[in-house]
Amino acid sequence: MPQALQQVNTPLIGVPGGRHLLDTPALLIDLPAMTRNIERMAAFARSRGVNLRPHVKTHKSVEIARRQVAAGAIGVSCVTLGEAEVMVQGGIPGVLITSPAVTPSKIARLIRLAQQARPGDVMVVVDNPQNLADLARAASELTHPLDVLVDYGAGYNRTGAATQAKVLELAALAAAEPRLRLRGLQAYAGNLQHIVAREERSAAAAGLRETVAGIVAAARRQGLNFDIVTGAGTGTHDLDSQENAFTELQAGSYVFMDAEYSRVLADGDQPSPFETSLFVQTAVVSTNAADWVTVDGGTKCFSTDSGVPLVAKGADAASRYAFFGDEHGKLMPPTGSQGSQAQRPALGSRVEFVTPHCDPTVNLHDAYHVVEGGTLVAIWPVDARGRR
Ligand code: PLP
Ligand code: MN
Repeated sequence: MPQALQQVNTPLIGVPGGRHLLDTPALLIDLPAMTRNIERMAAFARSRGVNLRPHVKTHKSVEIARRQVAAGAIGVSCVTLGEAEVMVQGGIPGVLITSPAVTPSKIARLIRLAQQARPGDVMVVVDNPQNLADLARAASELTHPLDVLVDYGAGYNRTGAATQAKVLELAALAAAEPRLRLRGLQAYAGNLQHIVAREERSAAAAGLRETVAGIVAAARRQGLNFDIVTGAGTGTHDLDSQENAFTELQAGSYVFMDAEYSRVLADGDQPSPFETSLFVQTAVVSTNAADWVTVDGGTKCFSTDSGVPLVAKGADAASRYAFFGDEHGKLMPPTGSQGSQAQRPALGSRVEFVTPHCDPTVNLHDAYHVVEGGTLVAIWPVDARGRR
């Protein structure tokens, strides 16, 4: 376990009942639940014969990345160079940067990082011939070629080459460039991850698998090396791992889950295969209003892009949260209930919430408070918080 981050809650580590004495708001990890999620996804990937390179955009933590690698992950995916720098510094192997490095300063940082890591331990995606040429020029400073994957704009077209022809053109350019080493293809379809209707998500993912298989077959006919075919998030991990379309999964959110993903992965009366392991603990700081109590977690504590936090502990689970400014939330009794005084959370009591969307919520906090039952067992930094 890494050394505890010196924090106001540090003296509570190991104290019986420490979870209920925390200074709030506090980001919590339920360690046994997170450990089960890590093991479950690793076992799933093994059962499908597919590699796992979990995305650290979710947790930004070297300690959690180490646990994922210890459970069988071949490396990690990062979206920012800052995340990749933190992971390499933390000794994490197999770092794939899933967004292009384009500006001169980013390319310079990428090259420094690739030089610092073992050959093959830093890979980056590319979606543009000019960027490919810029990377090749910068890579001449390296003592080994720079590993690149061609990004295909599956789904959103947020990044990635738009067509098979453009993918193959880029792959051929990379293969012909001695300062680059073509490793494979990325096809991440962010637009499919949160489709709630299982059949709709499944049909869309089948279409993507077919497209990806077509691109890979065409590349192989041209002798291009697409040994790695990477993609998939938590929402499509079980779909993208079918028919050998992908060689690896980049799922990230499964480690924590959130309100949105729990809705997506629940399948009829089958609950999600992953458990919520991330919570935010708040305290009730005012009880003077008749129709609500006020908790000390607002828009600086929870991301606001995916609905509202859900009560996990400390109040009726059907209570409704509403954002109440930067630092506060309004917690109202369930609709239809008379809000009996007996059920009202008391002043100073703790209310824990499931986050609406895990990744952007984590990035609002400095540290994880790692709990097992009522005990605070560790405090881990959110190492790559805010790292661009
Ligand atoms: N890969 C890429 C490129 C992503 O952008 C993301 C998330 O946005 C993921 C993987 C992880 O997806 P999820 O958090 O849905 O598991
Ligand atoms: Mn997300």
